[in-house]
Amino acid sequence: MAYLISELGKEMLEDVRRFCSREIREQCRNWDITGEWPREAYTKAFEMGYQTLDIPEQLGGPGLDMVDAAALLEQIAMADAGFAVTLAASNLGLKPVMLAGSEAQKQRACSLILNGGLGAFCLTEPQAGSDVGAVQTVALRETDVYVLNGRKTFITNGSVAAFYCVAAMTDQDRGKRGMTLFLVEADQPGVFTENHENKMGIRSSDTCDVVFDQCRIPVSARIGAEGGGFAIAMEALNQGRAWMGCVAVGIAQRAMEEAVFYGKSRCQFGRSILKNQGLQFKIADMAMKIETARQMTDHALTLIQQGRPCAAEAAMAKCYASDIAMETTSEAIQILGGYGYSRDYPVEKLLRDAKIFQIFEGTNEVQRMVIAGDVLAGRRNI
Ligand SMILES: Cc1cc2nc3c(=O)[nH]c(=O)nc-3n(C[C@H](O)[C@H](O)[C@H](O)COP(=O)(O)OP(=O)(O)OC[C@H]3O[C@@H](n4cnc5c(N)ncnc54)[C@H](O)[C@@H]3O)c2cc1C
Repeated sequence: MAYLISELGKEMLEDVRRFCSREIREQCRNWDITGEWPREAYTKAFEMGYQTLDIPEQLGGPGLDMVDAAALLEQIAMADAGFAVTLAASNLGLKPVMLAGSEAQKQRACSLILNGGLGAFCLTEPQAGSDVGAVQTVALRETDVYVLNGRKTFITNGSVAAFYCVAAMTDQDRGKRGMTLFLVEADQPGVFTENHENKMGIRSSDTCDVVFDQCRIPVSARIGAEGGGFAIAMEALNQGRAWMGCVAVGIAQRAMEEAVFYGKSRCQFGRSILKNQGLQFKIADMAMKIETARQMTDHALTLIQQGRPCAAEAAMAKCYASDIAMETTSEAIQILGGYGYSRDYPVEKLLRDAKIFQIFEGTNEVQRMVIAGDVLAGRRNI
């Protein structure tokens, strides 16, 4: 692995490796079958602080460099992508608070996470997927409270989160400029969860609808200014995409390792199948693409850490990493032949897990729209 990680990062990476082999790597095969949210394993991970990787030191987090945190997340993703998605989605729920929230909101959201709670990011609705501006959830102001009504769909951590970052319209006539974000705690009256998704992959993560029905929240729960929600949500998503890129890289890395492990011992025509240069070239292509994707996510995270614009770089990282995760997992199945297609071997799960990374946090078509927009605006000239 090419990450240039710190001494603290290296120490933590060893802990994460041990934790994954003890608590996740084998167990996730059963979670994949049942679709259960493995509360006990998550509780152990929270005791290790793996949900806090992105929290700065002054708010009680480990104060990790982003590249260190990325290496840890990739390691967890290699064991089980659903587990890593749970942690990354929680980070995304926290992001808007960290970008635009008040000190009190930052303290509250971070303390919930530090105490073993998770965040969730509630943007998507039945009629508002790629077209984020079509959000219909409303937050109507009544003196010192907002009354929230609407349905969010496909929400990661929906039924297990301690708090939600919710996008709602405070002025429906203004489209995107009428969108505002709110920090809503999950035990608030008027918050319900429904429709647990029976997913193709990342089955150890929780995905469901979150419904707000006459949910009254204080004005102090608003994140940033009224009408500022779209810009904050887009910036949070830029950062979230870089993190999801790391998870996709972890899936691809695991697929390559499984292909090599199997291929070395599988003999056909009297020798290991990996003695065939045609298959070695497949492995070489996997390694090149994984390394490229890792460098891209690393670069996007470095820009984020430096407070520099990263929209196109994060879009490229997430798009490329998820495309090569699909390609690598498919090629790994090919190297395992019929056994790759069997649920008795781990690679078919990797392919099912990989697919979602081309869809969520903006589909890869949307990422290409972001990238093309950047090129056409002349921002990629040297
Ligand atoms: C497992 C899972 C977890 C999720 N977690 C969350 C979460 O935590 N929070 C949250 O808010 N959302 C979440 N989502 C929602 C996810 O972000 C959306 O599904 C995604 O943004 C796409 O929206 P959609 O499904 O409505 O597809 P649509 O927007 O209906 O798109 C359908 C297809 O049309 C294409 N398309 C649409 N518009 C264009 C265009 N202009 N040009 C070219 N192609 C276009 C899309 O790329 C896609 O291929 C999750 C989804 C899943 C499946």
